[in-house]
Amino acid sequence: MAKWSKPAQKEMPSVRWNDAWTKSVPVQHRHRMACIRSKDTTPEMKVRRLVHALGYRYRLHVRTLPGTPDLVFPSRRKIINVSGCFWHMHGCGGCRIPATRRTYWKAKLTRNKERDDCTRRALRRLGWKVLTVWECQTGDGQRLADRMTRFLRGR
Ligand SMILES: [Zn+2]
Repeated sequence: MAKWSKPAQKEMPSVRWNDAWTKSVPVQHRHRMACIRSKDTTPEMKVRRLVHALGYRYRLHVRTLPGTPDLVFPSRRKIINVSGCFWHMHGCGGCRIPATRRTYWKAKLTRNKERDDCTRRALRRLGWKVLTVWECQTGDGQRLADRMTRFLRGR
């Protein structure tokens, strides 16, 4: 899925998100591996399998709702969106802005984030409760399952 793939490794960088915006400070590469994963274990697939195993049924990628949310639970009026840390600019420090074409990437990723905020507000105005699961939060399956269960059971 294109949504989860990132710019070529050679473009991947040496700058942390938080630093990237202001001073382009190079840092060590030790977090770089956090960005790499195989295609069939995407965060979204992991979330889908977990939610299914918990016994909840959902609709996928509902185009009639703002932002085409990932997992939709119509009777509960709840939504779970799974976001890649790179493409949606999570401040977790696990991924960073490419070193090349920095202005382009900064503008593009900032637009993504603004769109996310806008979409979330639109969904809430329509009465939907929205849970965002970040890519970096999918490593601990039990913890994620507990969190999603709390969200889906809650009022
Ligand atoms: Zn993250």
